[in-house]
Amino acid sequence: MSTVKREIPTDRHITYQFQTRTCGKANCTQCSNGKKHGPYWYAYWYEDGEPKRCGGYKRGKLRTAYIGKVRPQDAIEKK
Ligand SMILES: [Zn+2]
Repeated sequence: MSTVKREIPTDRHITYQFQTRTCGKANCTQCSNGKKHGPYWYAYWYEDGEPKRCGGYKRGKLRTAYIGKVRPQDAIEKK
């Protein structure tokens, strides 16, 4: 196994999403059929933003990490 996973920060508010995705490959039959891939779990979080002159912080860059098919332990199912 050599699956590379992006490091998910532990000091951030992480949002989990269970979703299908397109892979972006032009000749992918699965995506061109509209089936996409997954669904898989993904983690989303914001990087540190720039401090604003008027106070507060600008939102940082949105980052995402692939988790896989297993539901992350701290992903709470919301409706
Ligand atoms: Zn694809």
